[in-house]
Amino acid sequence: MIEPRGRGPTLAKDINRRTIYNVIKQKRSTSRIELAKMLKLNKNTVNTIVDELIHAGFVQDIGQKKTTSAGRKPTIIEFQAKNKWTLGVHLSSSVIHFAVTDLYAQPLEKFSIPIEQPTPETVVFTIKSALDRITNTYSQDHCIGIGIGIPGLINKNRTHVIQSSHLDWMDVPIIQELQNEIQMDYILLDNSVKLATLGEMWYGMGHGVSNFIYCNFGNGVGCGLISDNKLIRGETNAAGELGHVIIDSHGPKCICGNYGCLETIVGLPYIFERLSKKAAVPIENITMDWIVDQIAANNDLVQSDLEQVGNAIGHSLSQIINLLNPKMIICDGPLMKAASFLFPIIERKINSDSVSLLAKEMKLERSQLYPMAGCIGAAALMIESWEDEVNPNDLITV
Ligand SMILES: [Zn+2]
Repeated sequence: MIEPRGRGPTLAKDINRRTIYNVIKQKRSTSRIELAKMLKLNKNTVNTIVDELIHAGFVQDIGQKKTTSAGRKPTIIEFQAKNKWTLGVHLSSSVIHFAVTDLYAQPLEKFSIPIEQPTPETVVFTIKSALDRITNTYSQDHCIGIGIGIPGLINKNRTHVIQSSHLDWMDVPIIQELQNEIQMDYILLDNSVKLATLGEMWYGMGHGVSNFIYCNFGNGVGCGLISDNKLIRGETNAAGELGHVIIDSHGPKCICGNYGCLETIVGLPYIFERLSKKAAVPIENITMDWIVDQIAANNDLVQSDLEQVGNAIGHSLSQIINLLNPKMIICDGPLMKAASFLFPIIERKINSDSVSLLAKEMKLERSQLYPMAGCIGAAALMIESWEDEVNPNDLITV
């Protein structure tokens, strides 16, 4: 939302400044003449605002365009995405992923720090240490804030974690706890699967795709839904509980209280437990790498179990395809280490269980960002919010 500072010329200039910033960023490079034509603005107005944005470091003059036609060649101006940076953080039960990104959410640096216990104290300490190290390289004055992804339910105002079974957290005001320790005005919180979906939209397979579904298959199963370039959040920010779509009402009991949810068939703890019993292998020896090796060695037991997994995923995805008509479904998470075995099964099931016209238009893809989609998306959330909320006047005074 643009916060009008006044009326008349000041407000008009604020609106023009925001529009020009957005267009230069979106086009990456353009010229003052092109901007004036495209936005139907007076050349002097464009010149004044572009000069201000150059002075503030968001835009740079990069010289004249090579053209074959006669006449004055326009000077090209280019968006400077590294003028500001943000830190995206993704918490899980055993590791915290970090991405320092530019204003396109393009990572300048990515790293992961293992943690023993994901207590709020450990998390705050680890983020503080990471930030201390990062600000040796990147000036804190140019940081717009931090985005944080949490595997769990966040309150509607996105200030605290209501419940996270993966972290074993209940009612944790994590933003306040972080702000007690670090000097940062802007810290945003969101569900990590929703953030991974934003990560794919800004910097992954979903870039430029208006309608897509992101699915994460790990200990739990969740999905993010992008419809007409917008993330569907739902009334209580809880849309996307793909893991609790019931596949077999006579199946195992799920943590949600129902029976036979998708998660009880394709969640890693359930797969590991089934395979441990079927193959008489101690559960601690079963990992995704073990499963991939067994598939390659044509282990029938493992292959038939994973076939059941692929069919359950394909069936549940076909329901979303029928409802939302996506162009693409992006599969991410540790289970996708077995993607080359699972994908043909999932695709076959999608083709048999969804409306054929919709299935034909849909492409199944594996994420290229694993395991960083969540922290890149956390950075994207921060950028999106900063660009929405910062007063256009701040674009040139900061
Ligand atoms: Zn469930």
